[in-house]
Order: sequence, then C-alpha cells, then structure tokens
Amino acid sequence: MNILVINCGSSSLKYQLINSDSEEVLAKGLVERIGIDGSQLTHTPAGKDKVVIKEDIPDHNKAVKLVIDALVDGSHGVIKSLSEIDAVGHRVVHGGEKFNKAVLVTDEVMKDIEELSSLAPLHNPANLIGIRSCQTNMPGTPNVAVFDTAFHQTMPEKAYMYGLPYEYYEKYKVRRYGFHGTSHDFVSKHAAELIGKDRKDLKIIVCHLGNGASVSAVQNGQCVDTSMGLTPLEGLIMGTRSGDMDPAIVDFICQKEGITAAEMNTVLNKKSGVYGLSNYASSDFRDLSELEESGNKYAKLALDTYCYRVAKYIGSYVAAMQGVDIIALTAGVGENNYRARRGICDYLGYLGVTVDDEKLKIRGEDLIVSTPDSKVTVMIVPTNEELAIAKQTVELV
Ligand code: ADP
Repeated sequence: MNILVINCGSSSLKYQLINSDSEEVLAKGLVERIGIDGSQLTHTPAGKDKVVIKEDIPDHNKAVKLVIDALVDGSHGVIKSLSEIDAVGHRVVHGGEKFNKAVLVTDEVMKDIEELSSLAPLHNPANLIGIRSCQTNMPGTPNVAVFDTAFHQTMPEKAYMYGLPYEYYEKYKVRRYGFHGTSHDFVSKHAAELIGKDRKDLKIIVCHLGNGASVSAVQNGQCVDTSMGLTPLEGLIMGTRSGDMDPAIVDFICQKEGITAAEMNTVLNKKSGVYGLSNYASSDFRDLSELEESGNKYAKLALDTYCYRVAKYIGSYVAAMQGVDIIALTAGVGENNYRARRGICDYLGYLGVTVDDEKLKIRGEDLIVSTPDSKVTVMIVPTNEELAIAKQTVELV
C-alpha cells in the first residue's frame, strides 16, 4: 500500500509517501511559510533531484493541493494518479485521555480532536486543518489519526498525576500526557528486536533527543512514565525549551521583567534550553559542540547541564522500573552527536554500563554501543516516526 504521511504545523506541512510493503520512501517534502510571504514547497522524489516550487500558498488547502500535484507530476512525480494513494496517516499531537491508539478519522473523531485543542492550542487545530484539506483534495481516501500521546496512556495514575489540587484534574484534565509517543513506541520495539527479544520481557529506557526531547520508561511493552507533561515543555532541557524548573520562577521573572505569563511561556518555549543557556549562541548541537571545543564557556555549560539532566532522568526511571535492560538513544542528537552521547554515558558506570568509545562516534545507524560485558545494553536506534505512522495507518485501513 502507498501511504501519504502528513505532519501539519501551524505554518508548515511535512510529508512522505511511503510504500508500506517495501518500507520505501517514494517521495518526501516540506511546505514552508503557509499563509506567510515567501511560501514554498520543497519536494524530493526518491532517486531524483529535489525541486523547489515558490508560490503563494495562502492556506493548508492549497498546500495539500500542491503536494498532490507534485506527487503526480509528469517529471518529478512518483505516481501516475491519486488513486495510487491508499490512505493518509496524520500525526496528531494531542489525543488526551480519549485516544490510546490510532483511529480511522470520522466526524466524531474530528469533533474529539477539536475539543482537545484547549490542551494543544498550537498543534491540534493545525492537525485538523491538515485532515480537512486531505478530505477536500482526496475525497474517498481514508484518513487515519496517529496521536503523539497515545503510547503513554498506559502510565499509572501515580506517574501521570501532579501534586496539584485534584479539582484541576477533574475540571481541566491537568495531568501528564507525554509526547513523541510514536517514536518511543517504535524505538522500544525495535531495540528489543535488535537483541532478539520481545519487549514484553524487558525494561527499556528510551531517550528521544531531538530539538524537542523526552525520556520514557517502557516496562513489559508498556509506557510506565515519561518526562513531558501536560505540554511538551516539561522534562529535559531541550533545544529552546527549558524543561523542568521551579514553577515559582514564572511569577518571579514576570515581576522583574514586567512581562505577562503568556510572554514568559514564550521565553520558556523559544528562548530557553541549550539556546538560552549558551547565551543564545545556538540550539544546534553541532554548533554547540564546536563552540565548546573552541573554548566557549556558555556552550560547555549548556552541554554539561543537558547531559546531567538526561542522566538524572535515566536514574529516576531505573528507580521507577526497579532495573533496566536497555537504554536506547534516538533522534537528531541521540543518533548523531558524540559529545552528548559521551556526556550521558559517563554517568552510567554505577549501573554497570561500559561503552565502546569508537562506536559512540558512529552516526545514524542501529548500533549497540555498550561492550559485551556491560550489565545494561546501551544502543543507538534511529527513530522513524513516518514509517511508524504509515504502518499504523495500514493496520486500520
Ligand atoms: P526535531 O525532529 O525535534 O526537530 P531532530 O530529531 O531532527 O529534531 O534533532 C535536531 C537536533 O539534532 C539538532 O540539535 C542537531 O544539532 C542535531 N543533529 C542533527 N544532525 C546532526 C549531526 N549530523 N551531528 C550532530 N548533531 C546533529
């Protein structure tokens, strides 16, 4: 089956057309600056040069139309007609407590996703627009919603409740949901396969370290805890997000700087993390690693603090599961960045972890980096959220 995977943001749309049988990516691309000056589509067909189409793209409907046109185009297209797309899989950020697995989109599902928008005001409305645009442009083609939160719905109450008045949970559903679920699910399953075991028999910690970053504890195949919370701001120090901190800092800085809580929220999401810590040098780990080597003390501080936080989360999840068999690192930083991998593994000796330093330098492939005598298997597992979405879509159609 050919599955079109769509990840719709407020002003962007990422897509991949995947043949689910061969797992081959037939084409992928990105529409940027939807509704903003300078909008464009970058389309990359497999085995051919990428094409950039600069055009006025006022809304997501037009964006989806351009993507479809590119896919069936005579020169840079990869299919002859739309009928070759069997279904569309959409990444939907927030499924609340309603969705613990992917679902076929119906009118009722659309209504539920809309109602959950108060929990993810930047993301769910954009995801809905993406689904509607596909319904308009590809009538009759089934759409499937795959939720970022679904995999974490198995967390026990003690892991998802905050130490807040219970009424906030009852009235507003304030609790931990967790995100990157598709990735944590995919990576934990694949990590178990790589050592020839079933994840039902294992305790696995997955560290998804990208621009956004989160850790999850997966015990006997089910998520039992994760670091992101009501929103994707909690937990690890990220590219530009603060992660955990004393909540009283919000009021303190609002008073000192004369800003509103909403403005502070923007600071915590866009100007914090390793970007803020490095004195706004960069949020990119390639830049930070180079800056540190050239003696930049802020870059060193950012990287040291980042690795320390990841190591503390790993320790807390070892406690939560009373042990660990596999620690898997994934996403941009986990798959590529030696500095962060080394910095994290340096804390793990107490678990009986020993790693091969040369292997820590290899990039972007499935790889066991711990030595054969290590008490815990440490591995790099490249994530593939698009393929995971495509597979879940196939299951439902
Ligand atoms: P997201 O999907 O959350 O936007 P990614 O998973 O692509 O993020 O991760 C982005 C991060 O990965 C960036 O900080 C970047 O520095 C890091 N990264 C990506 N490629 C490399 C590389 N080749 N070497 C070092 N770091 C890399």
